Amino acid sequence: MSDSLFTKIRKGEIPGTIVYQDELCFAIEDIAPQAPIHILIIPIKEIEKVSDASEEDINLLGHLLHVSKKIAQNHNLDNNYRLVINNGARAGQTVFHIHVHLLGGKSLEWHPA
Ligand code: AMP
Repeated sequence: MSDSLFTKIRKGEIPGTIVYQDELCFAIEDIAPQAPIHILIIPIKEIEKVSDASEEDINLLGHLLHVSKKIAQNHNLDNNYRLVINNGARAGQTVFHIHVHLLGGKSLEWHPA
């Protein structure tokens, strides 16, 4: 199976701005930001979507949220931000490699539908 778009960015094969990296995950700036801060937190392991994750991924999924929190703190979001995971095409997912959207830096409306 070929690498996902996000893995290609992590490997430096296509351009992207990596803002965080550890042994389990990495984070990049979204190319089409929907807020002043829009960062994607992505596991190194390629899991297509949350509904494909298994019990062995429980710690990894928790790690993504923990890293999201740390990145939010580093961007001075004042504990006001949104974390979003789209699961499946009909929920708006376009890149099939799990990622948490971290959105902040302005007041956010709530209109997910
Ligand atoms: P989703 O629609 O939840 O799958 O989110 C995919 C996100 O990836 C969107 O917010 C896109 O703007 C973003 N995206 C797509 N291509 C790139 C890229 N080359 N570099 C950074 N972000 C990207």
